[in-house]
Amino acid sequence: MHIDYRKEFGVRECPSCATEVKINNNRCPICGYEFPCLRGRRKTLQVGMALLMLILLGLMLLRALSGR
Ligand SMILES: [Zn+2]
Repeated sequence: MHIDYRKEFGVRECPSCATEVKINNNRCPICGYEFPCLRGRRKTLQVGMALLMLILLGLMLLRALSGR
């Protein structure tokens, strides 16, 4: 009888090397494969927004400096 123990123990299989990697480990310790996850994507979006704000601030500063 096959039991899906992966969910029980919070483990998932690495699609690259088939090693079992813990759910809270976003990177495979064997081959370095990075698991794509929603949380990571959201974080990337936040970083992107922060970067955009920084660029806008820089542009405003440049304009203020060249304006006088
Ligand atoms: Zn791997």
